[in-house]
Amino acid sequence: MLTIPFDNSYARDLEGMYLPFQGAVAPEPALVWLNEGLAAELGLDPLALREPAGLAMLTGGAMPEGASPLAMAYAGHQFGGFSPQLGDGRAMLVGEVIDRQGQRRDLHLKGSGRTPFSRGGDGKAALGPVLREVILGEAMQGLGIPTTRALSAVTTGETVWRDGTGLQGAVLARVASSHLRVGTFQFFYARRETARLRLLADYAIARHDPDLSGTPDRYLAFLHRVIARQMALVAGWVSVGFVHGVMNTDNMTISGETIDYGPCAFIDAHDPAAVFSSIDAQGRYAYGNQPLLARWNLARLAETLLPLIAENPDEALPELQAVIEGAEGLYAAERRKRFGAKLGVTGADDALIDGFLDMLTAQGADFTGAFRALSEVARGNRLPLGALIGRDPRLEGWLAEWDSRRDRTPEAMEAVNPLYIPRNHRVEEALAAAQTGDLAPMQRLMEALATPCAARPGFEDLEGPAPAGFGDYVTFC
Ligand code: AMP
Ligand code: MG
Ligand code: MG
Repeated sequence: MLTIPFDNSYARDLEGMYLPFQGAVAPEPALVWLNEGLAAELGLDPLALREPAGLAMLTGGAMPEGASPLAMAYAGHQFGGFSPQLGDGRAMLVGEVIDRQGQRRDLHLKGSGRTPFSRGGDGKAALGPVLREVILGEAMQGLGIPTTRALSAVTTGETVWRDGTGLQGAVLARVASSHLRVGTFQFFYARRETARLRLLADYAIARHDPDLSGTPDRYLAFLHRVIARQMALVAGWVSVGFVHGVMNTDNMTISGETIDYGPCAFIDAHDPAAVFSSIDAQGRYAYGNQPLLARWNLARLAETLLPLIAENPDEALPELQAVIEGAEGLYAAERRKRFGAKLGVTGADDALIDGFLDMLTAQGADFTGAFRALSEVARGNRLPLGALIGRDPRLEGWLAEWDSRRDRTPEAMEAVNPLYIPRNHRVEEALAAAQTGDLAPMQRLMEALATPCAARPGFEDLEGPAPAGFGDYVTFC
């Protein structure tokens, strides 16, 4: 029996900020992938999830007792332009559970059918993108970077049409510490619904920063916390070569977890201008632009808090601006921390970090492989790094400086420099096989990605970048 002890605070406390919603009934639900470890963390019975009632919940068609299925309202700046109403167009919140650690987690579906927020969309998702989110999200988890997590992927038995091609329909179930977005705040700010905005902000504070609840300067302090979380998040992304691809304000969480693995990808060659998304023609969300665009998004969040901080928004502006200006320094500190650990140098400065990265860019060297090769240098083996950037005239000088400053062991460096990332060509291979019913390559890839820094004999083929013949990688929403 599927019994889940839901505790649905969003439905209870935030009336008017969502629409009650029931998903479409999947004609023939079939489980493709289940995250048993995560199910256990949530206190959910994996056996019950596999039964018809479980699959009905995981596709949205029928809910167990205690669920309060709903579609959330939100707005968002998409590629810089404001859309006052987006919302869950193909997603729904099933409910919240308190996990084994006492943390509140959302159980959320993507691909569960049309909602009042669907606009022109069909409300559906195809198996390929659903499994892509499974792989990339679990990879992010393995890398120790905050992320929403996939609980299950279930095919619906329906055909979903994309650009004239019929694809297997599927629903992703995902878990997040909440689905509050920058865009959620923008929705009510744009409508000048200040009372709702205050309710939302107090809810977000109670959920993510409970120590601030009821304090007089809580909204400003809350903004500061969100900035700190998002700057740490983006520094995490940059440190593993991740390009989110669609950092619109509706895809940036208040919790600081990565959300919406759509057109994202990991870089092979280091290139600040790297863009993979077919729809990011201007390169707005290029690899190296992510810190800047995250700050731009945070300024949009700050705007929404203006009416909560002062009667006259002009009075609040300088304070909020100061907090936003602090974001740059927070990011710089997080970046030095991440890259310092990768270099094995405590207190690494930007000159040392950029000195290495500039060589990688100039030589078109594999980002992930180069850091791993550097830990080999620390072991006394210069060959792998030499093969990548040995031609760079700056290498000898840089290595001498690095060697004089390195204070961590090769083992410590290896523990933060992954050997396995979801390489684009391997992800594509795994997805192609999965779509024909062969899940073995995906499972094998995910096994390596679960502990990405630990070398696994027999998995060497998953280490390197795509062969030249793989060509430019293009991702789609
Ligand atoms: P995204 O950029 O993928 O996060 O999506 C932006 C907005 O488009 C959100 O409101 C989504 O719910 C909505 N959306 C994306 N795909 C679909 C779809 N197939 N059907 C309905 N709404 C969609
Ligand atoms: Mg989204
Ligand atoms: Mg999306």
